[in-house]
Amino acid sequence: MTAARTLKTPQDLADAGLLDRDRLAEIQTVADRYAIAVTPAIAGLINRNDPADPIARQFLPDPAELLTLPEERADPIGDAAHSPVKGIVHRYPDRVLLKAVHVCPVYCRFCFRREMVGPQGEGTLGPDEMAAAMDYIRADTDIWEVILTGGDPLVLSPRRLAAIMEALGAIPHVKIVRFHTRVPVVDPDHIDGALIAALKASGKTTYVALHANHPRELTDAARAACARLIDAGIAMVSQTVLLRGVNDDPAILGALMKGFVETRIKPYYLHHPDLAPGTSHFRMEIAEGQKIVSALRGTISGLCQPTYVLDIPGGHGKAVIGENAIRYGDGCYSVADFRGGEHRYPPQA
Ligand code: SF4
Repeated sequence: MTAARTLKTPQDLADAGLLDRDRLAEIQTVADRYAIAVTPAIAGLINRNDPADPIARQFLPDPAELLTLPEERADPIGDAAHSPVKGIVHRYPDRVLLKAVHVCPVYCRFCFRREMVGPQGEGTLGPDEMAAAMDYIRADTDIWEVILTGGDPLVLSPRRLAAIMEALGAIPHVKIVRFHTRVPVVDPDHIDGALIAALKASGKTTYVALHANHPRELTDAARAACARLIDAGIAMVSQTVLLRGVNDDPAILGALMKGFVETRIKPYYLHHPDLAPGTSHFRMEIAEGQKIVSALRGTISGLCQPTYVLDIPGGHGKAVIGENAIRYGDGCYSVADFRGGEHRYPPQA
């Protein structure tokens, strides 16, 4: 059964055949805590016959979300500590996040901002708040890049997006505008001419970072939506979260990265999952993540390699955490090849 509209309640999920009716009460306790949204495109991708389906695991609520560990926190990457005005996060000197909206077309069960996004979240920036955010960007000439994230900025109407882009277009020191989104995968038809025209309204170099975690998300419709963006002159990169039970396998992760490159999307970040509340069932040890990432080396093209990163809790920014291929000792370097062989550098004569 394919849903005709976004599913937002346990009852919607049951009616669409995505939840056994005898689990309605149990899942309602999860829904009372965290928002649900499953678009028709995602509902159609879920394999109802597979209890471990990696698409279902990302989007269908799970009672495991009710377990919050002591190390988990509402603001796992420390946005609040770096927010000088509402909607802006200024963590690095040359770039800011602009969080214009706090709703998404889907609600990912592992979301690092799950306490901030959703119908109960922080809402959309009002006109005065947006003006204050633009004033902040205008006043700091070190800001080279503005990253629209959220929430998913591509849920904004083309009219509102165009207004934001025109305002950014009038700030000379802003050279790059980047959008982080799931829309091309979860609602590919939304990437239409009006939306693309809005994205181009600034005249700035514009990037779209596509969030996808499993190769099955890159459907023909999703790839066509990305092609429309890229053909219009918008560059694309990827971001993926390394998730237990979704893509914690080099073959699956490799297929996803190849799918990105085939779609003209450069693999960018592979995130270790953040310490968001109720998400421990998605996390693995960093050492396990390093093994998976190392297995990609040598098995898939260099073009397909993502950078494995951890957002350091507390707002200290990203650290690259891939296994270090080089060690220093006994007066020389030792470099590991992709089969695990060790080689001296420089080689001995
Ligand atoms: S689309 Fe992004 S911000 Fe929205 S729920 Fe998913 S991970 Fe969170």
